Amino acid sequence: DVRVRFCPSPTGNPHVGLVRTALFNWAFARHHQGTLVLRIEDTDAARDSEESYRQLLDSLRWLGLDWDEGPEVGGPHAPYRQSQRMDVYADVARRLKEAGHAYDCYCSAEELEDRRAAARAAGRPSGYDGHCRDLTAEQTAAYLAEGRSAIVRFRMPDKTITFTDLVRGELTFTPDNVPDYGIVRANGAPLYTLVNPVDDALMGITHVLRGEDLLSSTPRQIALYEALIGLGVAKQIPDFGHLPYVMGEGNKKLSKRDPESSLNLYRERGFLPEGLLNYLSLLGWSYSADQDVFSPAEMVARFDIADVNANPARFDLKKAESINGDHIRLLSPEAFAAACTPWLRAPHAPWAPEDFDEAAWQAIAPHAQTRLTVLSDITANVDFLFLPEPVADEASWAKAMKEGSDALLRTAREKLAGADWTSPEALKEAVLAAGEAHGLKLGKAQAPVRVAVTGRTVGLPLFESLQVLGRDRALARIDAALA
Ligand code: GLU
Repeated sequence: DVRVRFCPSPTGNPHVGLVRTALFNWAFARHHQGTLVLRIEDTDAARDSEESYRQLLDSLRWLGLDWDEGPEVGGPHAPYRQSQRMDVYADVARRLKEAGHAYDCYCSAEELEDRRAAARAAGRPSGYDGHCRDLTAEQTAAYLAEGRSAIVRFRMPDKTITFTDLVRGELTFTPDNVPDYGIVRANGAPLYTLVNPVDDALMGITHVLRGEDLLSSTPRQIALYEALIGLGVAKQIPDFGHLPYVMGEGNKKLSKRDPESSLNLYRERGFLPEGLLNYLSLLGWSYSADQDVFSPAEMVARFDIADVNANPARFDLKKAESINGDHIRLLSPEAFAAACTPWLRAPHAPWAPEDFDEAAWQAIAPHAQTRLTVLSDITANVDFLFLPEPVADEASWAKAMKEGSDALLRTAREKLAGADWTSPEALKEAVLAAGEAHGLKLGKAQAPVRVAVTGRTVGLPLFESLQVLGRDRALARIDAALA
């Protein structure tokens, strides 16, 4: 029975790396008809926030990444917020100490730093040197008399640890590389190093899929697992698979602080959840050699962790938008219109709500659906229909209105006035004829018309736009441009 977990810490805004991890766990769980556990790792009161917790849940819901156990849905291992499980960790820490797997460490930060520096200078491994591993009762009493407090440290077994990573194959860590490590702070607060594997054990997690940045904690966790098995807390060591790094601009690791890593940005730009998931799944995985657009259900059907690539993946915003555009094309006309609705209303829409014209929207929507890459662009593409005047964008105006544009506009107005406005083809003929009269090709001839009528140099197909706007309003705008 496959049981996987997604266990974010609620700090800051959700970012794409986090979503990629959630997605791969979700696809893995669904593919194997297993269970996805959502666990909130909120043991760091200084950094965690309720706001971030709510955003996380909201984002997962928006993306359609549902979980089988966790906050809001409950489950046999509740509670699923670590802040509500502190007694569990205190108990396990105590038992680890009693069994000799962990010990109190009284070394101060300065002492640790001094010894680290000395080790480095001597070319020795600079991790914890085991100073407090075997303190006598007298030494302990002396430290306590000095008023020192202790952290709890896990005693790494003196052996090489090997495991088969589901993505990277066999990995080996020698004891030199994995020193004893802290699991409980001096103030009694348990650390990630303890709570994460303890909960994975108690919740029966079979596969841990997470980012490569956590690879160095895996040998520690495997050793801790072995101790937990001895204590009867864990039954088995899960399989681990580490997902590749995501590289951003300049081939640097995409960081939480990079603006393009913020999930909210994609929501605000009008990505479809399925478009964003599709793109994020390609960060380390591929559907097939000749198809890179697919639905979440198709991903689930085909997802195999063995196909995840260990090499760093490159984040490419252009590609993300283009894939999102493909998903926009896949929507039914009704679904597309519905998806656009938030951008056609306040606060996104610059027009007065009563100026919105449903019939005009219905008429123009199909032309937008074939072109948009992100839904937020819809506002600028259709505002000419609902604003009393086209947006007077000076730069666009200057770009399109060249010497001779007035003369051309006058001719175009005349030809358009006599044209059949039920036919975009006829409107095109009119502008074409006006262009010919002034020695201009269609492209050059339509630029001033577009700016006069829509206020912009780029947009939806001009002649369909003119038709939807209607003869009277379109001609009045050309008149206004000529005035
Ligand atoms: N709370 C940890 C994080 O967000 C989870 C890491 C893990 O998957 O083990 O980094």
